Amino acid sequence: MRVLKFGGTSMGDEHSWRQIMDIIDGYHEPVIIVSATARTTRQLVSAARLAVSEHGKAVDIADAIKERHTTLVKNFLAHADPAGPLAAEIDEDCRAWIDRRIEDLRRMLQAIHRCNECTPRANDAVASIGEQLSAYLFARCGQAYGLSTTWVDAGKVIRTDASYGQAVPDREQIKHRVQPLAKAISQKYIPVMGGYYGQDEKGHTTTLGFEGSDYTASLVGSALQAEAIEIWTDVSGIYTCDPRVVAGARPIPELSFREATELAYFGAKILHPATMKPAASQQIPVYVRNIFEPDHPGTKIHGEQQANGWAKAITYMSDIVILTVTADGNREGHRFLAAVFSALDQARLPVNAVTTTEASVSVALSGNEKLEQLHHRLAQLGSVDIQQEQGLISLIGCSFEQMQTLQERVWSSIATTVPTLISYSRTKRNLNIGLDETELIPSVCAIHEMLFNFDEGTRGGSG
Ligand code: ADP
Ligand code: MG
Repeated sequence: MRVLKFGGTSMGDEHSWRQIMDIIDGYHEPVIIVSATARTTRQLVSAARLAVSEHGKAVDIADAIKERHTTLVKNFLAHADPAGPLAAEIDEDCRAWIDRRIEDLRRMLQAIHRCNECTPRANDAVASIGEQLSAYLFARCGQAYGLSTTWVDAGKVIRTDASYGQAVPDREQIKHRVQPLAKAISQKYIPVMGGYYGQDEKGHTTTLGFEGSDYTASLVGSALQAEAIEIWTDVSGIYTCDPRVVAGARPIPELSFREATELAYFGAKILHPATMKPAASQQIPVYVRNIFEPDHPGTKIHGEQQANGWAKAITYMSDIVILTVTADGNREGHRFLAAVFSALDQARLPVNAVTTTEASVSVALSGNEKLEQLHHRLAQLGSVDIQQEQGLISLIGCSFEQMQTLQERVWSSIATTVPTLISYSRTKRNLNIGLDETELIPSVCAIHEMLFNFDEGTRGGSG
């Protein structure tokens, strides 16, 4: 049994639905996880926000979502085979389903408007509508295509805690709750479930964070002890860098679980960073593959890391703040460090990279929200310097055996740039470079060129 996940980019229109169904048809006992159709989740989240003060605009978004899904189903069924009575019945059923979900959505938007506040709980309930629509409609349309697809509600399977927006799954509970999926498979059905959302103990809808459908696929795969988890998207695997940004980027055949986690964590917007955890705990390989190039093997994520070439991939993040605290003269080194990290812990800002000396600490942070509060606390420990509008480049899977050449190549490719932070992790095989945001993309391209495409064939190159 394999768990196949299809992302929003590939759920966009009736042509890609058919492409996906072709792929599913080639599998024995697949379990299907789908995202919302392209753009839907983002629209839902903005509708939830707008509902407070611009309720009319929020309702317009609900209408647009309804219209788009109705058209998608209609177009799909127009070319369905078998056509005729079955297609007509499915069309009617899908319309009724869309009506009910959009009615739920309107009611929630109204409630948000009335309370004059969009709570995290309300936000999750609204955001989950995309997967509630896509999974059901896809399962029903699959039947018109001749597949024995059947819808399963993710709310019944993915039990989480109540931290809305970034809920933590309860893997023990999920192990029991995947039974409906196992049962469907034993009865020769193909279960189709929405990713991204789940339910807490009280039955309130929760979500697993952006790109959470990848995580759902991995949770389900591990609970069912699947043979593999396949993440199907619109590119042929994980590339040496985002192919939308770096023209010369190419797919990486293999990555370890740790490398893939680091890659996702340091900004590669292709997988939810938590995806690898459930899979790695049971050594279930994760594949990343392309629905538009189904014969391409894509990337296989499995096992332990192995050095291969200078580095495996480059990722980057923008909107970074680099904050440096320098201790007052009379503070003891270890106390100073403890106090700085305790302040960071309390601010709950994601720390991406750190460099320290006994008397000073520099950290690269994502997000600006609690910065002022943090600044205030840190100012009691020493002098604080804040650099905003920074970028962070991360080299993943570095070969530290070839550190000297790696460094030479990196520094020579960005020779005119002065980094604002540099950090290494030998165990994680990362090299992080902070720099001005204006230099970010050109530097990413230059380092990529130098590490992966320069005098190829005579030197390292990627694995
Ligand atoms: P899905 O909707 O299928 O979940 P995503 O948009 O989440 O798809 O992920 C696929 C996209 O990730 C690609 O189109 C690509 O632009 C982007 N991406 C960013 N970094 C990488 C990378 N290192 N390798 C491949 N794709 C990447
Ligand atoms: Mg994705």
